[in-house]
Amino acid sequence: MGKVLFWVVAFLGGLLATRVLAQVAAKKMYNDSLPKQAGTQRVVEAEAMVRCAHCGLHLPESEAISKAGANFCSQAHATLGAKSPR
Ligand SMILES: [Zn+2]
Repeated sequence: MGKVLFWVVAFLGGLLATRVLAQVAAKKMYNDSLPKQAGTQRVVEAEAMVRCAHCGLHLPESEAISKAGANFCSQAHATLGAKSPR
């Protein structure tokens, strides 16, 4: 009887130790990957803003229409051209 009890306790102790070690390893991996992901997101979010040469609207550079060295918010404003600043 004592022998069986010893093996049950040894088995449960081994399971507990494995779980604790796995949790520590998972937490360490999560903490290591967290700053890198945040840095990548910050780079993706920071997009250059440009000003429409006709109406002055600010918009992301990827959505702007470039014409004759100026940026415009829409095809209509690109056709109308740059308006002289007041
Ligand atoms: Zn515009």
